[in-house]
Order: sequence, then structure tokens, then C-alpha cells
Amino acid sequence: MILTQPRISLGFFPTPLVPLSRLTKALGGPEIWIKRDDQTGLALGGNKTRKLEFLMADAVAQGCDTVITAGAAQSNHCRQTAAAAAVLGLHCHLVLGGKAPEQPNGNLLLDQLLGATLHWTGDLRKGERIPELAQRLKSQGYSPYLIPYGGSNAIGALGFVAAVVELKEQLQTVKQNFDAIVFASSSGGTQAGLIVGQRVAKLNIPLIGIAIDKDDGSQDLMNTKISQLSNQTAQRLNLEDDNYPVTINTDYLGDGYGVVGDFERHAIALVAQSEGILLDPVYTGRAMGGLIDLTNSRILRSGQTVLFWHTGGSPALFNRPERLF
Ligand SMILES: *Cc1c(COP(=O)(O)O)cnc(C)c1O
Repeated sequence: MILTQPRISLGFFPTPLVPLSRLTKALGGPEIWIKRDDQTGLALGGNKTRKLEFLMADAVAQGCDTVITAGAAQSNHCRQTAAAAAVLGLHCHLVLGGKAPEQPNGNLLLDQLLGATLHWTGDLRKGERIPELAQRLKSQGYSPYLIPYGGSNAIGALGFVAAVVELKEQLQTVKQNFDAIVFASSSGGTQAGLIVGQRVAKLNIPLIGIAIDKDDGSQDLMNTKISQLSNQTAQRLNLEDDNYPVTINTDYLGDGYGVVGDFERHAIALVAQSEGILLDPVYTGRAMGGLIDLTNSRILRSGQTVLFWHTGGSPALFNRPERLF
């Protein structure tokens, strides 16, 4: 049923699924594997490519000529949306938190290179101003398609339903199963898609979503939000309502969104130096820090096999690189 949903190809799938033997050895806990969604191939890749394959198909089906979305200045979602719009010949407007820096770098530099029009909104980085901009563009004769913050609605989450179907095929090929999947979770589309996808693909691997953004609210609030999104996603696929258990871990929020501390620095350096794989300072550095801590506290332990789902984000390494040392 996921196969019949409108989808436009924007990335290269399946992304690689490989063991990390040197990291496994360094940590002395579970056997660690990685799913390389940093290699989806759309303008430096990332998990939003999966969501955009379904969101952009919907935009095109509705005859829209413009997409609008929102995020932080270094949003990976905004960068991939700008690239997807370029692929399809659509205008792209990005509503960004903060104010224009003198010298754009990282994702922001790429947004501009990809031809997006930027709108700065100060403290608001979660799309609060999208409706207002949409009205203005409509009055100018454009036909805008609105993509929420993080691409996290029931259409975007389909990307991660399809991702689980993809993973299941890979598991059969490599004759492997996992005791847990660890990943960075923020706007919730990734986690909701993984939850519904497991039901579709008949997998039952415990999900450990590592919360990233303090501003997303309490653990209860996030669980409720993700469980609602899971139900909405299931409805699009005509699945019956279910009680989708959400397990989000809010132990690693640190000093807030995008604030890099020793916790993230250590994880990023360890993975770079043991495996030659680049994590990112906002999401995957923190999620890998969580995996390492869960290993140190023996919640994840030897004898188990754990999948780290790399959701991308490495362009943000080039934003304020002094944070990394
Ligand atoms: C957006 C993003 C996430 C979080 O995904 P959600 O679907 O918003 O929960 C994780 N990692 C990276 C690199 C991202 O850009």
C-alpha cells in the first residue's frame, strides 16, 4: 500500500546498511550498524529527502508552482527542500529563524546556491509565519504549497514508512536483525514513519528516539504529538487505528537546540576517527552521544545488535566550526 502512494524520486535508495566494527570495538558494548541516510544523494543528503519524495509529489499533483517551508538558519530540511524545488523547477521560499548573518555558511550558503528566497523571522523558527507569507504569494499570483517545519505531517512521514520497507529487504539480504534502532528525533516525522513502517513491514524492533530540541516540549507532549502523527499517517494508508507506543528519550537535551557541548564533541570525534563517518553538531552528534551513554550504562550491551540511523546534517559542521574543538 505504501507503494501506491504518489512519490517522486529525489534520492538514491536503498541507502547503505553497514556494520561499524571499529566503533563497536571502541565502545565494547553491542554490535553497532549504521543506516546511511546522510548519503541519500540530494544536495548532500539527509533524512528529509525521504519525506520530500512524497511531499513534492503532492505539491506537483496539486499544480503548485512554489513551495514554502521553515526551519532554523542551519536547517537541513530547508536545504533539501530548496534542492528538491530546484529539481522540479519550482520556486522555494524559506522562513528562517534568526537574522541574516554577514557571511552565510553551511546549509544557509547552500540554500542560496540552490536558488531559495529567504525570509528572516527572529525568534520564530518553526514556521509560525508560513501562512502569512503564503497569503502574500497568493495575492501576487503564485500557487504555494506549504510544507510544515521538518516536513513532519502524515504525507512526509510516509517517507519513513517506505524506509522501513527498504530496511526489511536489506535485513533479509544480510541475514541480520536488530535489538534497537537509535536515531535523532525532533519534529517527529521520522519517528512516526518508523513506527507505522514497522507495522506495515511486520518488524518489531524497539525504537529509541533521542530528543534533540528542548523547545519541542516535555517528554509527554512529544509522545502525544508523535503518536497523533503516527495515527494520521496510518490513516493515509487505510490502516486501522492502533495504539502506537512512542519511546522518546529526553535525557540528552543538553543546553538546548544546536548548543554543542563535550557530549556531542566526543561523539562526533569518535565516529569520525574510528569510522571516517561525519556526524553533525545538532542532531546526530547528540543521538550518537545518547547511544554511547546507553552503552556505558549497560542499557545497550554486548550480545545485542543496535542500528544507528544516520539522519544526515553534516553541512552544519561548517557553521561555527570552532564549536567542534
Ligand atoms: C530533521 C532532522 C532530524 C529529525 O527528524 P524529525 O523527523 O524532524 O524528527 C534528525 N537529524 C537530522 C540531521 C535532521 O536534519
